[in-house]
Amino acid sequence: MAQPPRPTMNQDSAFFWEGTLAGELRIQRCSECGRLRHPPGPMCPTCNSLEWDSVVASGRGEVYSFIVHHHPPVYGLETPFAVAVVALEEGTRIVGNVVGRDPSEIEVGMPVEVRFVPVDGEWTLPQWQPREE
Ligand code: ZN
Repeated sequence: MAQPPRPTMNQDSAFFWEGTLAGELRIQRCSECGRLRHPPGPMCPTCNSLEWDSVVASGRGEVYSFIVHHHPPVYGLETPFAVAVVALEEGTRIVGNVVGRDPSEIEVGMPVEVRFVPVDGEWTLPQWQPREE
């Protein structure tokens, strides 16, 4: 079965992918200044601290911006599909597919919530679906 491209998983992002497997959207938080950041990285861009932990986000946010991909074909994905920058309630942003709505109906500011889509038993993809206010 065709699958979406496997994302990079490394020492910095392992906690995030372990979270999605467990049905949690984990966001990296600086232990020094408390800033949330995504994608995960080793150093806080605000205070340069290397110390961090994570919080479990609510999984709710809104479409901050988006594109609709028509071409070229992407193995494992049916075109057209929407990719959005989602502004999380917690105040940071994350990139993901918006599903459950025709891409032509997606709008900036649309409220969305996460859903976890198991891919192959080893990793789970967080996607975004419109939610009622
Ligand atoms: Zn910091």
